[in-house]
Formats: sequence, C-alpha cells, structure tokens
Amino acid sequence: MTEKGLRNLRPATQLVHGATERSQHGETSEALFLTQGFVYDSAEAAEARFKGEEPGFIYSRYANPTNHMFEQRMCLLEGAEDARAFGSGMAAVAAAILCQVRSGDHIVAAKALFGSCRWIIETLAPKYGIDVTLVDGADLDQWRRAVKPNTKVVFFETPTNPTLEVYDIAAIAEIAHSVGANVVIDNVFATPLLQKPLLHGADIVVYSATKHIDGQGRCLGGVLLSSKEWIDKNLHDYFRHTGPSLSPFNAWVLLKGLETLPVRVRQQTESAGRIADFLAGHSAVSRVIYPGRADHPQAAIVARQMTGGSTLVCFELKGGKDAAFATENGLGIIRISNNLGDAKSLITHPTTTTHKSMTEEARLGAGITPGMLRLSVGLEDGEDLLDDLDRALRKAG
Ligand SMILES: *Cc1c(COP(=O)(O)O)cnc(C)c1O
Repeated sequence: MTEKGLRNLRPATQLVHGATERSQHGETSEALFLTQGFVYDSAEAAEARFKGEEPGFIYSRYANPTNHMFEQRMCLLEGAEDARAFGSGMAAVAAAILCQVRSGDHIVAAKALFGSCRWIIETLAPKYGIDVTLVDGADLDQWRRAVKPNTKVVFFETPTNPTLEVYDIAAIAEIAHSVGANVVIDNVFATPLLQKPLLHGADIVVYSATKHIDGQGRCLGGVLLSSKEWIDKNLHDYFRHTGPSLSPFNAWVLLKGLETLPVRVRQQTESAGRIADFLAGHSAVSRVIYPGRADHPQAAIVARQMTGGSTLVCFELKGGKDAAFATENGLGIIRISNNLGDAKSLITHPTTTTHKSMTEEARLGAGITPGMLRLSVGLEDGEDLLDDLDRALRKAG
C-alpha cells in the first residue's frame, strides 16, 4: 500500500499499516533500530548525506528509522505534514514553546494547565525575558484582551486537567492569528482520535505519548506535530542541538501502541460514559464533569470539536476530602495513581497530588475542590468498574 493510498483509509487501518518501512528481511512487525549511528559506503556518501543531497540517517539524536515510523504514523493519524518524537511529553511541550520565542516576546496561556506546563510558562519563560499572561480559557473576552502585537504563542489544553473544561479551539485560534501568534495545543486528554486540533485552526499539537499512545503504562514519550514549514523553520535545529529525542526502544513500544489505540480508546470512552452516568445518579456525588454528557458546561463546543467524551471522568463527593479519600481507599480494582490513559483504571485526588503545588486560592479558582476525584478509565470490564465504584461509595458513605 502506498502512503498516498493510506491517507485515504480510515484511522484504524492507518494505525496498523501506516508508515511501515520494512528492512531487507521483510519482517511483519516493525523493526527496532536500536542504534546510535549509521555507516556510509564511502567518504563521498558521508559527504552527500551531510550536505542533504542524499536521503538517509546520520545520528539517532537527529532521526532514527524506528522513530521515523512512529512520527510518520502519527502524521497520518493527525493529518499533519511532519512530526518529531520526544523523550517525554514535557520535552515536547517545552520545545513547542521555547523553540519559537525570544526575549521580548509574549505568551498567552490558559490557567488550567498540567503542573509542569504551568511551570514552563509561569517560571521558566519569564527567566528568559518572555512576558506571560494567564487567562481563563473558557472566557473568549480574556483571550481577546490578552493578545498583543508581540504575542508569539497561545497555549492551552482541552479538555483540561482535572476539571475537563473544553475550550473553543477555532475561536481562540482566530484571536491568536489576528496578531500573528501560533496556537499550541496539548491534546493529551482528547487523544488524536477524539479531537483533531489542526482541523480547527491550531498550528502545533503536542502529546504526552506516555498516556493513551503507549496506553499500557510502560514508557515515557512525547510527540509534536505541525506543518513542515513550521518544523523546518522553528524546531529542526532546536531539536537536533538540544537533544530531547526519544529512545528508539520507546519509539517501537509506542509504534506498537498505535496499532491498538482505536480499540482501546473506544472501549475506555464507552466505559467512561457509563461510569459518568452512574456517578451522576449517585446520592454521594454532588457533581460529575464529563465532556460526553449533555450537562457538561461546554457541551456545545464538545459537539463541534470532539467525537467522544474522553476516557476521563471528574467527580465531586458531597462529603469533601474525607469522602474522597474513603472512596479511593475502598476501591479494589481501580488503583490510586496520578497517571492516566493506562489499560488499568487509575484514580487520583488532585488537591493532594497533581495540583498540590498550587495555592488553595488558585486551586479553588480553577474549580478543583477537596472532594474532587479524577478517574482515568481503563480496559477492565465496565461492569466490574461500576461494581467497584458502587462498593467503594457505599463503604465511604
Ligand atoms: C502527562 C501530561 C504531560 C507530560 O507528559 P510526560 O510524558 O509525563 O512528560 C503534559 N500534558 C498533559 C496534559 C499530561 O497529561
């Protein structure tokens, strides 16, 4: 199947066959090129490759055949022209932002960010003379007021962690583009299957591949996707010389993860929807936030820009922190962990874990209450997960 033919096929097929580059052995499963470097047949061949006159690999910090398969398969899925694979999601986020700004530039970001993303924006960027404005991502007026002629980057996650707010990508992109800024979206919670930011006007998409793309809790990874022009101009040299590259071994694990991504995300999203409905009807629960439900605060945006409610459910217990802890401690199948996107269902109490470093005021301002739990729904049988939650809530109550 040619790459051109593959582009017309559906995602599940692309993710099994796309971007496979077989070696001379014709292996069925993708080859793992665990190599640092490459040899050349002659001095002239080495010269030609360094000059860019001949295609081929030079050094695995720049590019590697297994990483290349992973990047190109991600491009097919996302509908992007080019990609780079990173050693972690944070390496991808840091590069997406830092490779395109300089001292005197301005960044606008939504307040509701993954902790390390917020550190890059709030703490690291100002150290290099980059001015930063944080806004409430759901309020378009705040985005409009925040952008300035020197705004270079507009950055947000949607859905957000942990409150699963959904921001209007097309509307925010229009505001960003009015001042010539690029829109960077951290699309981890939606996955590339349920939301395609580039289609809605974003310029750069980043993932922690650690989450659903691996999907089985094994290795860290990240990926950035954009136009070939943006990558050549902004990221190409930054990537080569700062060295955030992914291990080929991890690229191979992630590549195999992509084969099963649609099946996993579909199953996990279906279970998440059932769990959200169950929790919404439970007397111990004061609030359920799930992008797949009609009562989600941004349900209209969800309908426009997502094709599913995601694999995460956020809910709040009437009994506050004590009830949240008792619920976590009463679970048998669902495990307590701050990770997400795994085959194993994982639950976390954001106030005391992932969002512990925020001030109480900032946390409450972001809607993260002491009774709130974030559940990442895994691949277990949905009935067993409902039974587990029911038992834990009963014990907690
Ligand atoms: C996990 C996560 C990251 C960071 O990814 P790592 O692979 O852990 O470096 C960034 N953004 C979001 C939304 C995440 O969930």
